[in-house]
Amino acid sequence: MGDRQAVSPEAVIESVLSRQRAAYLADINPDLALRRDRLDRLERMILAWQERLAQAISEDFGNRSPVVTTLADIVPTRAAIRHARRHLKGWMRRRRVSLAWTGQPGSALIIRQPLGVVGIIAPWNYPLNLMLSPLVGALAAGNRAMLKPSELTPRFSEVLDAAVKEFFAEDEVAVITGGPEVAAAFSAAPFDHLVFTGSTAVGRKVAEAAARNLTPVTLELGGKSPAIIDASADLDSAVPRLIWGKLLNSGQTCVAPDYALVPRDRVGAFVAAAKAAAERQYPRLSSNPDYTSIISARHFDRLAGLIEEARDKGAEVIELLPGTDAARRILAPVVVTGANDTMALMREEIFGPILPVIPYDTLDEALAFVNARDRPLALYWFGSDRAAEGRVLNGTISGGVTVNDTILHLAQDNLPFGGVGASGDGAYHGEAGFVAMSKEKPVLRQSRLSAVALLYPPYGRVAAMLLKVLAKFG
Ligand code: NAD
Repeated sequence: MGDRQAVSPEAVIESVLSRQRAAYLADINPDLALRRDRLDRLERMILAWQERLAQAISEDFGNRSPVVTTLADIVPTRAAIRHARRHLKGWMRRRRVSLAWTGQPGSALIIRQPLGVVGIIAPWNYPLNLMLSPLVGALAAGNRAMLKPSELTPRFSEVLDAAVKEFFAEDEVAVITGGPEVAAAFSAAPFDHLVFTGSTAVGRKVAEAAARNLTPVTLELGGKSPAIIDASADLDSAVPRLIWGKLLNSGQTCVAPDYALVPRDRVGAFVAAAKAAAERQYPRLSSNPDYTSIISARHFDRLAGLIEEARDKGAEVIELLPGTDAARRILAPVVVTGANDTMALMREEIFGPILPVIPYDTLDEALAFVNARDRPLALYWFGSDRAAEGRVLNGTISGGVTVNDTILHLAQDNLPFGGVGASGDGAYHGEAGFVAMSKEKPVLRQSRLSAVALLYPPYGRVAAMLLKVLAKFG
């Protein structure tokens, strides 16, 4: 880092990128053994550094339980590594496909090739998983990668940089640290693919910067993910699951349920169940080490502002638990009833422990409410009425869905993960990540004979006959 600081971020990024690209060109298609070795090293790195990484993350937040970091950062990343390792050979296999008559009697195949150098920009909320899960896909697909962690997790970034240096050569994986200006320079670099995880607003800028290089991007963005409580839902099981998903990391989760749509006659019971669930999960909040601090004073003030504005405009704010402590950036969870679209908390992604509860009378009304907004990253539906479930699944579009729970579709490596519309573009996790960071190259191998040769000019009787057959059978 010493001499890096003397030069501009653009120059550092350019120099690492050109070294990685040269290394890629020297071995365009790393074999199975090398890819497995890189995945193994990534897992060994996580194991060797996990306490230091978790400690750094906790310091960056002010307080975050190592259990949260283990459950939501380390465990899913290690699962992704093992899943990739297990399926890698199959994913790398050439695929034979059948041929139209123009290719007969040749053969056709699809070869999956590494794209080259992948850039990965991650947010601060799950800094390890959101950086290293895309890296699993990148390395499995045979790429090299440059990583740009968030400036809001400076200690984590430092530890990650040291860990990566211990296990990877700089031309395999490198960490670039710095503020938003470094991130902007990073997104303007001519990567072969860019994975961006963060807000929709910054995602727009990243897409613009990448477009100038025609760099393909996977955009993993955010948005307001609804949780719909059906008339058939059992509140005793649904509400603790919803509250768990909302309060994990104090709501600072991309797929956290943002607001709840609740049948009008069940709002009272819902709020009582939410209170009971919050009390059970986070007793004595002000001194509870399981409850995560809000990442910065700026973010704390924004959330406090959302609550204040809603209250000023006539909404009812119901504290689920007492214990707000601004000095430690602990924000006690609240439910808000009577919220409407004049309030910022119904227009912006909340990203904190505030749950607006919107009453509805008919399922159609609830679906119309969801569909009138940007397409969400996640949607949750709770209930036992299969017909209603079918109407929700078919009648809405979102990045992903968990039925009768929250968050968990994200933890399945056989399910592609990604948003749609304002919540993102493209997907990763498991094979989806491998494919996103590969070129699927179609190859036609012509045989010594060629059907098309029958149609070479000069056009005579054979051509006329063939055209007749084609007119009939396509
Ligand atoms: P953010 O958009 O502010 O920052 C994300 C990253 O972008 C950071 O590393 C930052 O350094 C970088 N950045 C900042 N300015 C940039 C620029 N001009 N060009 C390029 N990069 C720039 O997001 P955040 O506050 O760190 O994270 C919260 C948001 O991320 C929420 O909206 C949340 O929903 C979303 N998110 C999405 C997912 C997902 O998987 N879809 C996961 C976690 C978080």
